[in-house]
Amino acid sequence: MDEILHSPQRELPRRRQRKGSAPAGGERAERLKERFSKLTDTLGARSEVLRRQGTRIYHRVSSAIAGKPKMAPLPFLAISAVVGVAAVVSTLYSPAYVVTVDGTDVGVVREQAVYEQAAARVEDRASEILGYDYTLDHTVTYSSALVERDELTPVADIENYLFDQIDAIMKSYVLTVDGQFVGAAADRAALDQLLEELAAPYVNENTISVDYTKAVHITQEYIASDVEQDVANMMATLTANTNGQTTYEVQKGDTFMALAFDNGMTMAEMEALNPDVDVNKLYIGQILNIKEEIPFLGVETVDTLTYTEAIECPVREVEDDSMYQGESKVLDAGVPGEALVTADVTYVNGVERERNVTSSTTVREATEKVIAVGTKERPTWYPTGNYIWPVYGTITSRFGYRYIFGSYSYHSGLDIAVPYGTSVKASDGGTVTFAGYKGSYGYLVIIDHGNGEQTYYGHNSSLLVSAGDKVYQGQTIAKAGSTGRSTGNHCHFEIRINGTSVNPSAYLN
Ligand SMILES: [Zn+2]
Repeated sequence: MDEILHSPQRELPRRRQRKGSAPAGGERAERLKERFSKLTDTLGARSEVLRRQGTRIYHRVSSAIAGKPKMAPLPFLAISAVVGVAAVVSTLYSPAYVVTVDGTDVGVVREQAVYEQAAARVEDRASEILGYDYTLDHTVTYSSALVERDELTPVADIENYLFDQIDAIMKSYVLTVDGQFVGAAADRAALDQLLEELAAPYVNENTISVDYTKAVHITQEYIASDVEQDVANMMATLTANTNGQTTYEVQKGDTFMALAFDNGMTMAEMEALNPDVDVNKLYIGQILNIKEEIPFLGVETVDTLTYTEAIECPVREVEDDSMYQGESKVLDAGVPGEALVTADVTYVNGVERERNVTSSTTVREATEKVIAVGTKERPTWYPTGNYIWPVYGTITSRFGYRYIFGSYSYHSGLDIAVPYGTSVKASDGGTVTFAGYKGSYGYLVIIDHGNGEQTYYGHNSSLLVSAGDKVYQGQTIAKAGSTGRSTGNHCHFEIRINGTSVNPSAYLN
């Protein structure tokens, strides 16, 4: 039975007798060896034979289990018991090597190659970290031992030991954002504090959670010892603004220029963000791209807020035949109610992104709002509140700035090219306040639609209405021409709200 205890491996060049304490193996291995001898001796010579034939017998046992019995039940049981013992013994104890590096035992490995591969990986990784070929300069010796399987040293432990011996490399806490290296610190607390400081301005007594807009990780890693560990620099990296963009929905009366100004952009910058948008033809509900400053790492907080909110008055309509259809008058405004609301509000760097109402309790009910609604038939000239095209044709000049007559000038309306004599229709019903010749407009009609809204129709060849006339939507008010400051037959159409011309394209469908 002695053969199983001998190392089947080749003789080591510098074999050592293990004495005293060792990280693994050593005395314990000796004890195990003794126990093993006693155990196997009791099995006798027969077991030796069987052990040698173990593989073949095992196959036979398998066949029996598979339903092709080749042995009587009793011998089968006896054999499997013996085989079982032999298998356990050879599984538990294995020959191994104690690795000694520069006089220090660093672990027990199954084969020398295990250590050699670990050392090679450490060298590769160190070379990668340091940026030059790094070679371990160690004296390594191996001595054989017999150990239990679980006494083998994890390879990671050996690699860590070797890394710790490299002065040019140190274990450090590394901060990454979306996998991108931000910085390192010997002290984890310094990085935790940095992240805390980043979030601090957005945290208050109502804050229930703090998170970041990107994946933030602090890991312990080996890095070159000379990597700068400056927390202030890391803070600068995390808070640096990147140019992002967000969207904006065009509202009534918006102009491209005003939106650019409001968002701190030049017209050119705004146009670059919106290459497919006709700057002179915005329409309500159009989505524009707007520049947004986004810090490299945003802080997302959730605050639980409790506040009172008005409850809208329920509306009751009362018919009134003294008013025109579409007209209405508030008879009783009602008193809004009050609700106590609790909501979880999500912010990114203090800007609200989401509001999730978790509870709402009525403190006071709202009273009814009563509105009188007109039922009297509306006169044909009454403004509908919507504008239609006065003529259909090619738009030769849009609203806004344009280059004309050798200079840039502001164009207060739309030019729609049409043949001479084309009928010009009232864009909406209303009262004619001007019909006559007016400077560069030529023959002009102005219609007042109430609510401070007026429409202008210029360059006509003839006029079909007079000041004071009531006109209905779609009524022909003039014939197109090229009077005034004009280079061809067209209708110059303007919409003015409280005296200011607005982009007609935003009002026409
Ligand atoms: Zn014009």
